[in-house]
Amino acid sequence: MIIYESKLEGTQNQYERLDEAIRTGRFVRNSIIRSWMDGQIKNRNDAYAYCKVLSDNPEFPWANQLNSMARQAHAERAWASIERFYRNCKAKIPGKKGFPKFKKYQVRDSIEYKTSGWKLSEDRRYLIFTDGFSAGSFKLWGSRDLHFYLLNQIKRVRVVRRHDGYSAQFLIDHQREENKELTGRQIGLDLGLNHFYTDNFGEKVDNPRFLRKDERKIKRLQRRLSKTEKRSKNRTKARNKLGRAHLKGSRRRNDWVCKLAQRVIQSNDLVAIENLRVRNMVKNHCLAKSISDAAWYRFREWLEYFGVVYGVPVIAVNPRYTSQNCSNCGQKVVKTLSTRTHRCPHCGYIADRDENAAINILKEALKQWANTMGRIEFQVSGEIPLCLSLETKASKGTQRKRKPKK
Ligand SMILES: [Zn+2]
Repeated sequence: MIIYESKLEGTQNQYERLDEAIRTGRFVRNSIIRSWMDGQIKNRNDAYAYCKVLSDNPEFPWANQLNSMARQAHAERAWASIERFYRNCKAKIPGKKGFPKFKKYQVRDSIEYKTSGWKLSEDRRYLIFTDGFSAGSFKLWGSRDLHFYLLNQIKRVRVVRRHDGYSAQFLIDHQREENKELTGRQIGLDLGLNHFYTDNFGEKVDNPRFLRKDERKIKRLQRRLSKTEKRSKNRTKARNKLGRAHLKGSRRRNDWVCKLAQRVIQSNDLVAIENLRVRNMVKNHCLAKSISDAAWYRFREWLEYFGVVYGVPVIAVNPRYTSQNCSNCGQKVVKTLSTRTHRCPHCGYIADRDENAAINILKEALKQWANTMGRIEFQVSGEIPLCLSLETKASKGTQRKRKPKK
């Protein structure tokens, strides 16, 4: 599945119709959450059926205006959040289980259509909405060409509202595959605050300059927002400005991180990274930290995406002890955060702290890879490989209880 995004150009009046559609999508979602809480909805089919109840109710004329498949798409969203809650409860994860919440108004919101309620113009430069809100036709602005794909490959169309306007995302059913030469290189990446990452060869990639610049700008706008009076016009203006600054910053980061991830994947045959927990990342209030956390998270998403495209495994490992253990002899060498060099008293190995961690990450990933992936294929094949008969002659013979009969 790939996603193409184009900006939507229309009139103020048309945008207001889109707002109504977005509000209705939220209404459908919240109504379903509500009747799930009341015990009326117990499974996904109930949620689908409830769309009909909503659209037949004369009290909610807007529900009927929304395209029926779009209603369903939002029922799916509601059910997905309920299901996530059930799953978390079942898995007994510690802390909050993510009880479904009602969604409030936010600038960043979207409405999702499936295969009806919209159409493309003959030349595919305009997107026309055909449901009850009759938002009309919008000019599409984007760098991508939709001509390359068949119409029935477009599985969904999402209208996204952000601080700087409206855009359409086309979800296209297409598996991207690229050919890659073997490079004979495997890489482990240690993510850090001082550098964006350090690899197991000791090479470092620095954070881009604009990161600090964006951070300063956002801080300034945040201060300005906090000085304005509540519910004043200036406050709305300041909030919009801040929203646009955040948006610009995140786009710039995403662009940088996407290109970096593609380069890493193209020049390696295996990539090992730390498994960062999103839950821990969201908690901190320091802006610089939260920005780089977000950038890493995106970086990992892109690595995994390009990994599939180029056929390069991306393995995430538990970051525990990767910075403490010695990558040469495996002994634990306790270091404070300010100790930048790893000096092992057991084997005398000296290396940069982050480089040592990156080597540990790569080693751990290879171990994981051998333990899971290799074994699955082994079991699936079902045949006794030749090497086993060789191994029984060695001292490991006791591992196999029954020897194959000749
Ligand atoms: Zn050592």
